[in-house]
Amino acid sequence: MNAKLDLEEVVVNGKKLETPVFVSGPCSAETEEQVLETGRKIAKMGIPIYRAGIWKPRTRPGSFEGLGVVALPWLQKLKEETGLIIATEVANPHHIKEALDHGVDILWIGARTSANPFAVQELADYLGGKDVPVFVKNPVNPDIDLWVGALERMNKAGMKKLMAVHRGFSHYGPSPYRNKPQWDIPIELKRRFPELPIIVDPSHICGRRDLLAGVCQKAADLTFDGLFIESHIDPDKALSDKAQQVTPEALEELLSSLIWRKSEVGTNGLMHDLEILRSKIDQIDDEVLHIFKERMKVVEKIGELKKKNKVTILQTSRWSEILEERKEVGKKLGLSEDFIGTILKAVHQESINTQTKIMNKEI
Ligand code: PEP
Ligand code: MN
Repeated sequence: MNAKLDLEEVVVNGKKLETPVFVSGPCSAETEEQVLETGRKIAKMGIPIYRAGIWKPRTRPGSFEGLGVVALPWLQKLKEETGLIIATEVANPHHIKEALDHGVDILWIGARTSANPFAVQELADYLGGKDVPVFVKNPVNPDIDLWVGALERMNKAGMKKLMAVHRGFSHYGPSPYRNKPQWDIPIELKRRFPELPIIVDPSHICGRRDLLAGVCQKAADLTFDGLFIESHIDPDKALSDKAQQVTPEALEELLSSLIWRKSEVGTNGLMHDLEILRSKIDQIDDEVLHIFKERMKVVEKIGELKKKNKVTILQTSRWSEILEERKEVGKKLGLSEDFIGTILKAVHQESINTQTKIMNKEI
């Protein structure tokens, strides 16, 4: 289905948002002091939009679920004092009513909500063309149509000031990321809707501070339209997402290290085909390496078992069987025998080295 979105420039309080656009602030509003102190620093850095969660969708009950309405006047106070544009997450009509009544300027739809068409439709019906920008995060699962569907539901209800937020996708199994970026999905969204601004939320992609800079630069290299990133005056004491939040000072340093290049090809940030394919390769290689790591963990377990039972490391019949079977699978996949042979030999050698270390008690 070839959809179109009827979009308008994102103008807030009479001012058009310039790209790259930056949004920052704490995962959650926790105290008046934390909201104001973080906000003052964010404003001083020239970041135009302040984010803070008031209602937090948490995976497990019992975690901090946000303070709710009592925290909204703090955001209002911050807005009056600094002129910051205020953004918060809404997940039901009650949230929207309270947020708008307290002067919130931008609403965002969280990843868990955009995965639920009933919930998105309820929000869209309630909003019904109100002149408020809406940021739509990708759904938790890597389904581009679900993301497009959420944007369409908002748009059909008359919401024209839309932005998409790429915050990575849930996955099972090992990954350094909390939510895998899967860049090809937001890139495909950009291809389908060149007029739709898409910003990147490195905080929820990474889940940890040390990975933020790399993901931010990747977002800039792929010519996304800005960053949505969590900051907190005292991240280690944050009541939610403490491992991924940074101080405003660290954020300033991070942002000043980024290089935003102008896209040389395409219009409106439309990505070059090569960039799309390269980002797919990056992602696949990342997965291949993590799968190798998983394989090595099993190899170690086998090594320990062999040691315990005094069995030799190399068992030639098993190795010949592996080689033959994998070559057969490779052939069906159209991969050459040579290629499969070379990879398997390298993997096998590394496995023998690891098991030898186990036998010699080096591991
Ligand atoms: C958030 O931005 O605080 C949040 C809850 O994000 P997400 O919906 O992407 O998990
Ligand atoms: Mn968060």
